[in-house]
Amino acid sequence: MKQVVPGVVFIEGRDEFIPDAHMYVIGEPESGDLSIIDAGLMGKEKYKVDSIRESGIDLSHIKRVIMTHTHLDHIGCLPEILKALPEAELWVHAAEAEPMEKGDERVIYGMDMFESMCRAQYGIRPGAFKLAVDRKLSGGETLEMGGMTWEVLHIPGHSPGSIALYCPARRILIPGDVVYADYAIGRFDLHGASGPQHRESLFRLAELDVDILLPGHNRIMTDVPAGYIRETARQWEAYLT
Ligand SMILES: [Zn+2]
Ligand SMILES: [Zn+2]
Repeated sequence: MKQVVPGVVFIEGRDEFIPDAHMYVIGEPESGDLSIIDAGLMGKEKYKVDSIRESGIDLSHIKRVIMTHTHLDHIGCLPEILKALPEAELWVHAAEAEPMEKGDERVIYGMDMFESMCRAQYGIRPGAFKLAVDRKLSGGETLEMGGMTWEVLHIPGHSPGSIALYCPARRILIPGDVVYADYAIGRFDLHGASGPQHRESLFRLAELDVDILLPGHNRIMTDVPAGYIRETARQWEAYLT
């Protein structure tokens, strides 16, 4: 756990044989209006909640959990995280919130083989992620949260309801699994994924001025070179057809 910049706490994922998504807590500490971005893998709730507490955050100040998308490595411990945060709402893009509320878990697991493997490994019952979503995002919202302004961008391709959160004043981008450090991008072969949409989403992110990149996995970047996302998109575009 560490503060990346004032207003952003980074709780690094602890990967197992499945990756565990990073969690970010955003908002000015004194605002009492904090947001969590993504939860993580099954069984990581204690580590994540303890890390939030150790960073000096009062759990009652966390007002919402916003999911960049609902893949299992991001949503696995969400039910337990929500239980630990009585004040927190759940915000998810409508394209993934609607199937989730109906108990359609195809996007969550991504592929049938993975679903059976995870059910066996973790004993997850069907319907475990049938959670009520308090706010369905569509992209294009400007969110005033915790003394910061964040824009919501709908960037489908890795998953149908992937979103990025972008803070223009501080040039911070939280892109979920759409783009990572080291010219890497998220996979685009899972249920609801689309190579051409992924390509379009990458070029859309390339238009933003970004100094700090906070992806769902692997290392974070606090000194992003100009043109980094555009160069990444160019390296991958031939595959995104
Ligand atoms: Zn993902
Ligand atoms: Zn992920």
